[in-house]
Amino acid sequence: MTDCIFCKIAHHEIPAQVVYENDDVIAFEDLNPQTPVHTLLIPKRHYDNLSDDIDEALLGKLFAAVPTVARLKGIEQSGYRIIANTGAHGRQTVYHLHIHILGGTSLPISMGPAD
Ligand code: 5GP
Ligand code: ZN
Repeated sequence: MTDCIFCKIAHHEIPAQVVYENDDVIAFEDLNPQTPVHTLLIPKRHYDNLSDDIDEALLGKLFAAVPTVARLKGIEQSGYRIIANTGAHGRQTVYHLHIHILGGTSLPISMGPAD
C-alpha cells in the first residue's frame, strides 16, 4: 500500500523510533504516547487489521515479538497490556494492523463502552 504510513515506517521511508525489528515485524514508539511505555508492533506486510485473513504463521511471529518488545522496553516483569483496535467500533485510525503495547504504569481497569 503506497499511501500507508505504517508501510512507509516498515520500509524506513519515513522516520520512527524503532525499538525492535526482524524480517517480518517492526516495533516503534507511538507518536502520541498514552502511557509511559507506548510502543506499536506491526507486521511489515500490509494487512488492514485482524479481520484481513492474515497468514497464521505471521500472526504467530507477530505475537511472539510482543514479549521481546516488552523486555526491550523494561516492562516484561512489571506487566503490560496489548490492544489491537479493529475497525470502526474499535476506534482504529490507522488501517495497517498494529498492536499497542502499553505499560510503565498501572493501567485503568475499565474497558467499557465510550460515553
Ligand atoms: P489506532 O487508533 O489505529 O489503534 O492507533 C494508531 C496509533 O498510531 C495512534 O496511537 C497514533 O498516535 C499512532 N500514529 C499515527 N501516525 C503515526 C506516525 O506517523 N508515527 C508513529 N510513530 N505513530 C503514529
Ligand atoms: Zn500498510
